[in-house]
Amino acid sequence: MEKLSLGAKKLGLELTPTQLEQFDIYYQEMVDWNKRVNLTAITDYEEVQIKHFLDSLTVTIAWQQAKGNTVIDVGTGAGIPGIPLKIVFPDIKLVLLEATAKKAAFLRHIVQELGLNDVEIVVGRAEDIAHLAQYRERFDLVLSRAVAQLPTLAELALPFCALGGSFIAQKKGDTSEEISRASKAIGLLGGNLREVKRVDLEEFADERWLVVIDKVSPTPAQYPRRSGMPAKRPLG
Ligand code: SAH
Repeated sequence: MEKLSLGAKKLGLELTPTQLEQFDIYYQEMVDWNKRVNLTAITDYEEVQIKHFLDSLTVTIAWQQAKGNTVIDVGTGAGIPGIPLKIVFPDIKLVLLEATAKKAAFLRHIVQELGLNDVEIVVGRAEDIAHLAQYRERFDLVLSRAVAQLPTLAELALPFCALGGSFIAQKKGDTSEEISRASKAIGLLGGNLREVKRVDLEEFADERWLVVIDKVSPTPAQYPRRSGMPAKRPLG
């Protein structure tokens, strides 16, 4: 986990031997399960360290940790970015939301294997789960990577965000057009675009951005719309 360790230092994170060992187990299990369950296209040891693990930790560039420690990762897949953040910040209370049962089975396995506490795995679609009182507007921080375009993603993610909390979306490439298309949706859902931060690490060949949206007013009860609608007819 040399590459991860060096990259994390650039983010001001000094990973302990135990944490590096946890990342190593995570890598081995992910690649092993990937033979049976479609978890990731990236399986090379060094690539996973950068493109999955370090990329997850870049969220810390925009994360105001003093604001609270309840976190949900919407569409977490194999646990990215939620699990790497949980390994490095064991005190967070983390919910991993994933629609696919087979991926959730991996999540249950790896959470146990790594001995992580305060991690809840929820199998379901954001469109449904965000209407349940125990999850709606309950999180200080909402995260999501590689799930949907921002106009859709705002509807899937912002309903989970507590007032005063934030949603950080990890985006690649040229995002300015995507962000401007999302501006109406963000407003409708109770969000306010705070900033778009560039992830400036030489480890990444492509451009990476953190889109930071603050939750400034409650999300109207009709959102998210029924399953599939946020993608089919994005707001705005
Ligand atoms: N965040 C991970 C996975 C990205 S793939 C990563 O960056 O590697 C997108 C994942 O989101 C898939 O596992 C898919 O099942 C899940 N997903 C897509 N739409 C969803 C929805 N509406 N609710 C919950 N999960 C969803």
